[in-house]
Amino acid sequence: MPLPEFVRLRFLGATQTVTGSKYLLSYKDKKILVDCGLFQGMKSLRLKNWEAFPVDPKTIEAIILTHAHVDHSGYIPRLIKDGFRGKIFCTPGTLALCKILLPDTGYLQEEEAEYQNRRKTSKHSPALPLFTQEEAERALEQFVPRNFHEEFEPSPGFKIKFLYAGHILGAAMALIKVGKKIIAFSGDVGRLQDPVFHQPDNLPPVDALIVESTYGDRRHPDNHPMVELERIINQAVVHKSVVLIPAFAVGRTQTLLHFLAQLKKAKRIPEFPMFLNSPMATTATDVLCQFRTLHKLSDLECDELQGVVRCVRSVEESKSLNDRRGPMLIISASGMATGGRILHHLKAFAANPNNVILLTGFQAAGTRGRSLQDGAKEIKIFGEIIPVHAHVQILENLSAHADYAELLQWLERSRIQPKQVFVTHGEPESAHAFRQHLVEKFGWNCVVPQQDQEILVGGVE
Ligand SMILES: [Zn+2]
Repeated sequence: MPLPEFVRLRFLGATQTVTGSKYLLSYKDKKILVDCGLFQGMKSLRLKNWEAFPVDPKTIEAIILTHAHVDHSGYIPRLIKDGFRGKIFCTPGTLALCKILLPDTGYLQEEEAEYQNRRKTSKHSPALPLFTQEEAERALEQFVPRNFHEEFEPSPGFKIKFLYAGHILGAAMALIKVGKKIIAFSGDVGRLQDPVFHQPDNLPPVDALIVESTYGDRRHPDNHPMVELERIINQAVVHKSVVLIPAFAVGRTQTLLHFLAQLKKAKRIPEFPMFLNSPMATTATDVLCQFRTLHKLSDLECDELQGVVRCVRSVEESKSLNDRRGPMLIISASGMATGGRILHHLKAFAANPNNVILLTGFQAAGTRGRSLQDGAKEIKIFGEIIPVHAHVQILENLSAHADYAELLQWLERSRIQPKQVFVTHGEPESAHAFRQHLVEKFGWNCVVPQQDQEILVGGVE
């Protein structure tokens, strides 16, 4: 009997949460996976990274990766460890960033396991990393770059094209023709007016759409983040404050550097010490400047943003920053203060009411960044309670995600009429609110899928 020709889509992550993006697409006897991200944030989510993968990884033909952020790419080395042998297709920009992000993720996994073993906090003895730095480096050998707008066939029956998403360097939407269906995965969608990236491409007609909803219930404010940054910095200089910016090493850090360079050039902020204390962010900045055609910045602007801060490489210099006094500005990863050098700086500077902690993007539930955003008076770092008296501010308009109005505008501009729409990559309130916006504006058939739910694309014909 011939195999049924249904196209099946199974949601293996990013359902009513912003992390763990993984979508399994099956047609005849072939399976591909769109994105392969880590669950992050709350412990209940992180534990999902340790569950057995719901299908045998050996049976997956290929991974289509929309962009390099770890919540989309960070499970790839684990899937390979568990038997995945196929290729991973992504844009060249995404590959360049994965070369930085994935080994670092492996390193952090090893560090975490080591920490638990030292403190004997794990039920498992010994605690093991999800994957190691070396395994992440080996995983990169299975990556295959494909340019935007060029069709390729990773497995018989699946024709794929990457469209420009404008979220971070190399970020793509995946347009997939399979059987008689066309399915679009939005990946993470960038802003319509981003200072660094171009607008997201319009979508062509599709049968089904899987769309993100990180800001599905919110608008970004109208104020310009560069003006806000100027105000905060000038105030900090007067008060001799330390401005701590937990920044996403890939993406927002480069936008911040661009703003700082522009402000300094126009003499809207004075000369004072500014540091980029994240070797990963420094490398990501260099990578952005290598891909000149994928963003709006000129050669001169690239030079300026690379030179505007002192890049701290060594651990000694990183530590010595904590002995300095303000005014100074430190940009350090990670963006949600879940790890990295920013933790040492928070420990040193968060208790002083004269200092400023400036949050620069989405803060997922369960992270220290979210606690700070929600006004926590203390946070826990390396098992120690650190009081927070510093002034916490949010540079919200720096987000790399379109808000709901921008998403609606982008979809309206695309003039599509999908028969099925799945709202993913948003916390429950955002996902449901965005579903409602789509129903009201377009009258679409929209669903907020459940974890592990499987659907037939186009239903039974
Ligand atoms: Zn992203």
